[in-house]
Amino acid sequence: MTDTMTPEQRHRCMSHIRSKNTKPELKVRKWLWSHGYRYRLNVKSVPGKPDIVMRPYRTAIFVNGCFWHGHGVTESLVQGSRCCKIPQTNREFWVKKILRNRERDQENYRVLQENGWQVIVIWECQLKPAVIEHTMREVEVLLNNNMLLLYKCHEPIPYINEEDTPLPMAAENE
Ligand SMILES: [Zn+2]
Repeated sequence: MTDTMTPEQRHRCMSHIRSKNTKPELKVRKWLWSHGYRYRLNVKSVPGKPDIVMRPYRTAIFVNGCFWHGHGVTESLVQGSRCCKIPQTNREFWVKKILRNRERDQENYRVLQENGWQVIVIWECQLKPAVIEHTMREVEVLLNNNMLLLYKCHEPIPYINEEDTPLPMAAENE
């Protein structure tokens, strides 16, 4: 991404960081809906105003744009990442901006988790046609797992290592 925006465009763009109905978010919603999942959008009473809220699963889903939310960008990797190329112009400004966005995201996730919510973050790049199905199947597994957590299997199901303790074979009479 090159920095070719006018200040005005940039401002408009930035004010949409956490805006509703972004395209990647729509892809997620469409998939969930067509697979029978129901959800609420941008619920204000839930901390961080997640994009998608699935109360029965006590799960908040964020669909993050790779650039604005700094996918793969860390303090030590301020050159940007494959997904989030920091513009050469005004580099310092962008680095600060994106790191701040990341911090705010992390803070939101933390508050949610402290309030008993599970957080799922889906990145824009994980919704490309070639990978969206795989991504959403993973999300589905996470959702089901979150549902299990709610039903609280307090006692973990004992895990039997078959190599250690071979189970007796059942002998059937012929
Ligand atoms: Zn990405």
